[in-house]
Amino acid sequence: MPNRYLIANWKMNVPPEGVASFLDAMNGADVVVAPPYVYLKDVAAKFVNTGAQNCADQKSGAFTGEISADMLRDCGARFVIVGHSERRTIYGEDDALIARKLAMAIDAGLTPVLCIGENEQQRERGHAVSFCSDQICAAAVPQLSNANEVIVAYEPIWAIGTGRNATGAMVAEIVEAIRGALERFWPAELATRTPILYGGSVTPDNVDDLIEHGRIDGFLVGGASLDSKKFLALAEAMKRLPRQP
Ligand code: PEP
Repeated sequence: MPNRYLIANWKMNVPPEGVASFLDAMNGADVVVAPPYVYLKDVAAKFVNTGAQNCADQKSGAFTGEISADMLRDCGARFVIVGHSERRTIYGEDDALIARKLAMAIDAGLTPVLCIGENEQQRERGHAVSFCSDQICAAAVPQLSNANEVIVAYEPIWAIGTGRNATGAMVAEIVEAIRGALERFWPAELATRTPILYGGSVTPDNVDDLIEHGRIDGFLVGGASLDSKKFLALAEAMKRLPRQP
């Protein structure tokens, strides 16, 4: 049975209320917080469930400006987001690079949060299912056999930061395709317990349809994760998530 997760991706932001008071407000809520690198230790000092937003695709060496998965673990991270659409679209990260990052994260003992999702044109052309399945296939690195857990986040690019979330029905269709691709391309034992999250303009106001119909195991949240009240409301909503069959 997949675990459930609510993950805050602060991107290159900090909550307006400040890191410390945001963390105090969480008050033991079962959430993961992924701050910018420089706040990792602050978050990890108060929070077991700390995540990074990216990692290098190499173990060490002459890679100026990069941070390795091992270093993230040393700073207290337990999770790392790989392949976020902002990395793919703004920084040109392709499937091969992301597969190497995934491998590095697993080797370092981190739980990767692999982001996948189609753009608007791919959806309009009816290619969303095949595109997401291909992204799962491209991430089938040998290291998956050693992974304790890998989380997949379905984040349609057109829904991220736009205020236009996917509906529960749209998400359920892609989740079914992802489950099928996981069974085909990933080690069976890992595939069956891989949590699938949804991300893309999730707020307390639109979460109910996603919870009821999305067939997901939780959420990766950007904008609404910068407001402790909204994020806590999402943590509360997670309790209504039905167990997936
Ligand atoms: C994200 O950046 O992963 C994300 C889902 O952002 P938002 O919730 O703002 O759409």
